[in-house]
Amino acid sequence: MVAEPDRHPTVLLLGGTGEARDLAALLVEAGVAVVSSLAGRVARPRLPVGAVRLGGFGGADGLAAHLREEGYDVVVDATHPFAATISRSAAAAAAAVGVPLLRLERPDWSSEPVGDWHPVADHDEAARTAARLGRRPFLTVGRQSLDRFTGPLADHACLVRVVDPPEVAVPEVWTVLLDRGPYELAGERALMEHHRADVLVTKDSGGRHTRPKLEAAAALGVPVVVVGRPAPPEGVQTVGDAAAAARWVLDRTGG
Ligand code: NAP
Repeated sequence: MVAEPDRHPTVLLLGGTGEARDLAALLVEAGVAVVSSLAGRVARPRLPVGAVRLGGFGGADGLAAHLREEGYDVVVDATHPFAATISRSAAAAAAAVGVPLLRLERPDWSSEPVGDWHPVADHDEAARTAARLGRRPFLTVGRQSLDRFTGPLADHACLVRVVDPPEVAVPEVWTVLLDRGPYELAGERALMEHHRADVLVTKDSGGRHTRPKLEAAAALGVPVVVVGRPAPPEGVQTVGDAAAAARWVLDRTGG
């Protein structure tokens, strides 16, 4: 726990994304009591305004118990599109406790592909496809899935960009770059040219902050391997931006 809510919490906001921080700011500005929840996974998380709690709940049952104890009126799941476990927990817990749940999920990139686009179903297929398409991949899939790439790309001179150092041993021919977006087109292009990247691998995260790599790849004629999003939990109302999520919350909390 890094900050205590100063009054009865109304909204539990499952965060870890820019959209969640935008929503927290809108709700705080509107005078709604919101507690943002972060997994506590990265070393220096970007903190939203308002109250913040850190760490997991202990699965769907733990989250349900937390919702009951704290008496939240609504929950917004604004976690990353690839954070499928916490989204499943949120759907199950909210249904069990009878608390309204909204999913805030930014639109994907696959609806508007640019350049030489290679959609794949998962990280294993991404690793195989990248191994086939290039010799010098640029991996931007996050450190949690790197273990799926170390085998198939052991002989490829990968450039790996991650926020925190990888937890797995990476092949000696790989270069690890610690960095965090947002990124600009010129810098992305220069980075890819400097590495002589011949294939880019990304999750279909969506959003503007990391999109310039797609435009840089298209400009350089570099193919892009795009891992599709996991299926969302069924039956959860979803909006695509923070403003729509704020309206949904205010409608239900009398703000
Ligand atoms: P995940 O695989 O869906 O979740 C793993 C476990 O971490 C969950 O079961 C939960 O633990 C805990 N957890 C996840 N998000 C949490 C949150 N907002 N508040 C409290 N506990 C949380 O999630 P992930 O992919 O590791 O992502 C972790 C966090 O990083 C999320 O907040 C997500 O929005 C953010 N993020 C993820 C990615 C990505 O590519 N996956 C990218 C950028 C940011 P318990 O079961 O104990 O409750």
